Amino acid sequence: MGEPSDKRPTIDADECTGCGLCVDVCEQECLDLVDDIASIVKLEDCIGCGDCAEECPVEAITME
Ligand code: SF4
Ligand code: SF4
Repeated sequence: MGEPSDKRPTIDADECTGCGLCVDVCEQECLDLVDDIASIVKLEDCIGCGDCAEECPVEAITME
């Protein structure tokens, strides 16, 4: 697991294929698929680890 940070994920809905890998990898359960697109459903629980961004095969998630 990546180190906690102040960064938070942004998901590019146009790039997301709905594969769900980011949803599965997030141990904080911050992400879910909404209409087959990854969405941040619990941003308050995000620790900024970046695992979701690292897992995404199409680089749809950026940490900033
Ligand atoms: S940065 Fe880490 S905690 Fe935050 S949504 Fe991504 S995987 Fe989950
Ligand atoms: S890993 Fe990437 S492509 Fe797959 S659901 Fe998440 S944001 Fe979408």
